Amino acid sequence: MRVTRKETLIMARKRIVIVGSNFAGFTAAMELAKRLNERHKIVVISRSDKFVFIPSLIWVPFGKRKEENISFPLAPIYKKKGIQFIHAEALRFDLNQHVVETTDGGISYDYLLIATGPKPDYDMISGLGPEHGHTVSICTLEHAEGAAKAWKQLLLDPRPVVIGATQGAACFGASYEFLLNVRYQLAKNGLEKSCPITFVTAEPFLGHFGIGGFGKAREMVEGFFKKLGIKAITNAVIEQVEPDTIHLGDGQKLPFKFAMLIPRFLGVDAVRNSPGLGNASGFIEVDDAYRMPAHPEIYAAGVAVAVKPPGPTPVPIGVPKTGYNSEEMARVAAHNIAAEIEGGPEIKLPFSAMDAKCILDAGSTGIIMISDRVLAPRKHQWLIPGPEAHWAKVAFEKYFLATRRRGRV
Ligand SMILES: Cc1cc2nc3c(=O)[nH]c(=O)nc-3n(C[C@H](O)[C@H](O)[C@H](O)COP(=O)(O)OP(=O)(O)OC[C@H]3O[C@@H](n4cnc5c(N)ncnc54)[C@H](O)[C@@H]3O)c2cc1C
Repeated sequence: MRVTRKETLIMARKRIVIVGSNFAGFTAAMELAKRLNERHKIVVISRSDKFVFIPSLIWVPFGKRKEENISFPLAPIYKKKGIQFIHAEALRFDLNQHVVETTDGGISYDYLLIATGPKPDYDMISGLGPEHGHTVSICTLEHAEGAAKAWKQLLLDPRPVVIGATQGAACFGASYEFLLNVRYQLAKNGLEKSCPITFVTAEPFLGHFGIGGFGKAREMVEGFFKKLGIKAITNAVIEQVEPDTIHLGDGQKLPFKFAMLIPRFLGVDAVRNSPGLGNASGFIEVDDAYRMPAHPEIYAAGVAVAVKPPGPTPVPIGVPKTGYNSEEMARVAAHNIAAEIEGGPEIKLPFSAMDAKCILDAGSTGIIMISDRVLAPRKHQWLIPGPEAHWAKVAFEKYFLATRRRGRV
């Protein structure tokens, strides 16, 4: 049978579905739009219709940022790039039929990229979290807005504060940043004496960050804490949170008026509801090309990806996956999907070999952290403390949002 040129083109037309549209999903969509011939169809499915610059959520409770300052709508950008955008939630993935089941019906795919980020697991500890518990959260825009209300209450009735990260947590940088911003804001309001702060963390030592430490970060963070009068409890296990008291596994009781604890992250329900997709925590195991060995048509990027901790710790913790890491994974995955479709070599980038670029903001100062590798062994690991770190974060936020709003990644 003779196959016409038109039929050959139709047969070769591929549908690439990306689920999730923040750091990883948005980057992957833009990269694929650049790399793929127009006959292929790119579809993005996202529960949120906007991009949220999560690193700025640490400032929302103090009224320093509002939703409109740190987010932008996705649909107009995707329209301009010829990408189909479906504002819906993925419910599960049918790996055999190659279908994503969503709140808007089933969407079939030839290639699938999962970039659904984390699900903060507040249910792991009784009384944890803003929904059914007594601690605030800064993990989502809605939660950070809720934390703003609790913050106002604290200013009216100043009493002890507890900030930290629970057993199993990975996103330690956010807990340090929020802690130091809380301390800065309390001092601005003249309340640092009325609101003594305890930092409670599952890390084995301060400045471990879930990556085994970073140069002289331990000494630097300990110095900061001493100067600012912050009490630290490391290797902490949180057993229960009551309305005004946190109970630790070793029997200590921490009274509080305002508490923010970063919980353990899991993979999202859609992944956990799809047999054969995620590991026990709902994260997706991929190779260094960000592709699932058992399902080569499926890729994953960002926090959705499973990353093994560099070594055991007395209290189990995870490895942080930053926005930069998430975008790097997405670039590699997008490159490899395009290479598979259009022809070309696959590229690989192990998570541990990525370079690290981080800013730890402290309100009016902070620390810039730069290294050739996220995980040891590293050739260099620079820590640059000072007010320039705060201004670098503000400048980066503006640069990031200005470029992404134009679809540049
Ligand atoms: C408070 C805080 C501060 C942080 N600060 C920094 C920082 O300073 N620097 C840094 O580099 N990193 C920081 N991070 C980490 C950074 O936010 C993450 O690395 C990044 O958000 C991960 O990107 P992602 O695309 O994998 O996931 P996300 O950004 O979480 O995006 C996931 C996307 O998937 C969508 N989604 C989820 N489930 C579904 C579903 N079932 N169906 C459809 N769509 C779905 C969501 O709506 C969202 O659009 C911080 C994190 C937190 C919580």
